[in-house]
Amino acid sequence: MQFWHKELETLPRQKLEELQLERLKKTLQKVYQKVPHYRKKIQDSAINPSEIKSINDIKKLPFTTKEDLFVDYPYGLLAIPTERAIRLHTSSGTTGKPKAIFFSKKDINNSAELIARSLVMTGATKKDILQNSMTYGLFTGALVMHYGAEKVGILVIPAGPGNTERQINLMRDFGTTMLHITPSYALYVASVIYDKGIDPKKDLKLKRAYLGAEPYSEETRRKIEEMLGIDIYNCYGLTEMNGPGVGFECIYKEGLHIWEDNFLMEVVNPETGQSVSDGEIGELVLTTLNREAMPLIRYRTRDLTRVIPEPCKCGRVHRRISRILGRSDDMFIVKGVNIFPQQIEQVLMGIKGVAQNYQIVLEAFDEMVVRVEIDRDLFDGKIEKLVRLKEEIVDKIRSNVMVKPKVELLEPGTLPISEGKAKRVIDKRTI
Ligand code: ADP
Ligand code: ZN
Repeated sequence: MQFWHKELETLPRQKLEELQLERLKKTLQKVYQKVPHYRKKIQDSAINPSEIKSINDIKKLPFTTKEDLFVDYPYGLLAIPTERAIRLHTSSGTTGKPKAIFFSKKDINNSAELIARSLVMTGATKKDILQNSMTYGLFTGALVMHYGAEKVGILVIPAGPGNTERQINLMRDFGTTMLHITPSYALYVASVIYDKGIDPKKDLKLKRAYLGAEPYSEETRRKIEEMLGIDIYNCYGLTEMNGPGVGFECIYKEGLHIWEDNFLMEVVNPETGQSVSDGEIGELVLTTLNREAMPLIRYRTRDLTRVIPEPCKCGRVHRRISRILGRSDDMFIVKGVNIFPQQIEQVLMGIKGVAQNYQIVLEAFDEMVVRVEIDRDLFDGKIEKLVRLKEEIVDKIRSNVMVKPKVELLEPGTLPISEGKAKRVIDKRTI
């Protein structure tokens, strides 16, 4: 296999840490000098940038939170003059106000390099054709991937999301080999391909898809892989860290390599802010090590994951995290139990007869209703089959999350279709 940056991906750990330290020092000096918000934060902390001797010293610095980005919105955290910034992106605003992030020319190039490196890691070459079905615009998802794929020499089809008929026509007409798409939309597109009687293995040229921008389970990955006969790679990122390309799976698909030459990674207990041990679940905290326009120090992502302590079979030195469990804001509490939507999804996507779409409705008195679409042919079968399926869903959810749900079985097409990030939970308890 041909690597994009073999020397940077497989260099000895110690060398990687030396590079991290050098870049960390530079980043800290820069924000200290150029960003009043950080100067104040650092002055209030226990350490001066010139005293940083090891990457662990970063723990002496305060966190940057999403709120910090709002306080100095829109230009406050910029470390270069605005005339040197060449692009603005904002987060998709799943939670709260949008966050504005700026890119210099170097930042644009660098984020594209990380994507290029990631795509090549999964076996992509310039012979591939990428249909980019993420939203183009303020959202980083599509544009950052677009530039990265172009860097490899891949032919990019800037399809954007939605208009599923057209998506499928594009795949057929141009021989799309790779998709970049959200998991919820991928489930829908796969179901339409199936309903149309298209045989993906014969009628399409798809080989792989990159799914990210929202949490999904291993079961969902497997389900789409089987439906389309392709390999799916998990792709993680957030606007505040350039967008996609922060972490990416290699061909072994066992967790996401975080590009540690560009991001310093910590996992902390979300309540205490203290580091957890490797392998323990906590909140991912990232520091940019190679960013010009808007470096961020110890940024609290609110995404929950764990470091996978074992080295990867591929030989890359960059450590892996397990797929994102969810963001701390996604968690909901029913009958005193903490639940992530992904735990429900994991159960549903592993059950035969369950189709692609579902919704969790939280009703008065802490009743959790799981509304789930099921295969169309089940409705034409015997009613006992439906009863059994319903019982299976109730039992499996109960044993997975310790709360007994009410389950409603629905015909496919009943629930709203998601073309971007899906809204899975409707909480009626507070309305
Ligand atoms: P917003 O915070 O407004 O949704 P972004 O569009 O930048 O802004 O989304 C980044 C967030 O999307 C991440 O913090 C994470 O919660 C989620 N995300 C991105 N990629 C993945 C992935 N592969 N798995 C799980 N969650 C992801
Ligand atoms: Zn690997």
